[in-house]
Amino acid sequence: MNSSPSVPPFPVPDRMTCDVAIVGGAIVGSSVAYFLKRLAPAVSVVAIEPDPTYEFASTLRASGGARRQFSCPENIAMSNYSIPFIRAAGDALAVDGEPAHVEWREGGYLFIVGAADLAVLRDNLDVQRANGVRADWLDADALHARFPSMNVAGIAAGVLTPDDGWCDPNGLLQGLRRKARALGVEYVRDRVVAIEHDATAARGVRLASGSFLQADHIVDAAGPWSKQVADMVGMPLPIEPLRRFEHYFETPNPIEPLPYVKDMARLAFRPEGRGHAHPASAGRAADGGAVRGYSGGLVDSNEPRGYNFDVDHDYFERVVWPALAHRFPAFEACRCRRTWSGLYEQNEFDGNPVIGNWAGRMDNFYVASGSSGHGMMHAPAAGRAIAELIVHGRYETIDLGRLGYARIAMHEPYPERGIL
Ligand SMILES: Cc1cc2nc3c(=O)[nH]c(=O)nc-3n(C[C@H](O)[C@H](O)[C@H](O)COP(=O)(O)OP(=O)(O)OC[C@H]3O[C@@H](n4cnc5c(N)ncnc54)[C@H](O)[C@@H]3O)c2cc1C
Repeated sequence: MNSSPSVPPFPVPDRMTCDVAIVGGAIVGSSVAYFLKRLAPAVSVVAIEPDPTYEFASTLRASGGARRQFSCPENIAMSNYSIPFIRAAGDALAVDGEPAHVEWREGGYLFIVGAADLAVLRDNLDVQRANGVRADWLDADALHARFPSMNVAGIAAGVLTPDDGWCDPNGLLQGLRRKARALGVEYVRDRVVAIEHDATAARGVRLASGSFLQADHIVDAAGPWSKQVADMVGMPLPIEPLRRFEHYFETPNPIEPLPYVKDMARLAFRPEGRGHAHPASAGRAADGGAVRGYSGGLVDSNEPRGYNFDVDHDYFERVVWPALAHRFPAFEACRCRRTWSGLYEQNEFDGNPVIGNWAGRMDNFYVASGSSGHGMMHAPAAGRAIAELIVHGRYETIDLGRLGYARIAMHEPYPERGIL
């Protein structure tokens, strides 16, 4: 194990100690914890999480989408690792014969663009295919033939990745957490209020309860709160909470099974349940079947940053519905049944995650945050990456060097191109 060489034991008695303290025990923190125990069973790992119900955690408010359609090879590689992990998680995360309930649906992802963005879509397709992704190019006619309910006016083409899909984020979190605990990870119900450190190393975490937990390695997996945690060691992290609404809506109109659909305006939605009908709905569809349910939203990038969970109940009607009904007229008659809010851990610097340690400055302090809307799908890969850094001192599965903090320190943004 790559223990920080310069860290002497903290010389105060009656302190708890561990090899790795993880700040935040939701999906990213639990993934780091799980992979640490998988890679090095003897490592002692403590995850500190103030709220075992995860009421405000982004993980429980996520839409569950998991896709390979990115432009940065690192993001594609993380999806190539994470999606098969999620697909197999039911059995792989089973404890005492009880599987994890991840509810993976391989419904595919469809990105659609107008003429102005055609070149970017094609360039990204080339990168995806070069990185082993099965992806189909569909021009407007092919889109119309495949998805007759779609109004293709203004659409030049789309890319469909049929092996992508969506899952239940809470099911994945609970599966990772349960398995991590079964492997020996300790979850402490507490809040980190300070991190003791000197100029070159973090020493341990001070908890709201007053306890101190000495640790050789500290991981910031606090999602939208990760900037506050990084502040505790003096690391400037450009990650801000960005509110985003998710809506559950239904239409009584017949509509073919849809993939997860995304466009340049950041409209994004997917079928809920099995994608054809929502069993909870009492209504009947126009074709006699059950009403079809969907989950999605439209990110407002201009939303003021902050810890705001208020719900704007007019947002669907005002912003989402017009975009939806324009693209899929079957949604003209749709009804929004529920709207909830959640926070993206938005990386204001370039929209990509910050994964890795504070190399050369505080080598034993790690960050896994800033995914800006993709943190659920990439949690398995991010967790494995941080675990490899801690246990082996280097990346072994995916080289995530370009997503490290160095690019921020050197003012070299590394953004995604095209649909976000
Ligand atoms: C509406 C919405 C839809 C989304 N859809 C998708 C999607 O389709 N696909 C996708 O991949 N991603 C999606 N995301 C993003 C995804 O939810 C997040 O990227 C991911 O859940 C981040 O996980 P996390 O564990 O880092 O953060 P969180 O789930 O927010 O967990 C952070 C944890 O840290 C804890 N914490 C905070 N401060 C402290 C402290 N001081 N001490 C100890 N613990 C602390 C909190 O209690 C919390 O439990 C969506 C997000 C939203 C809001």
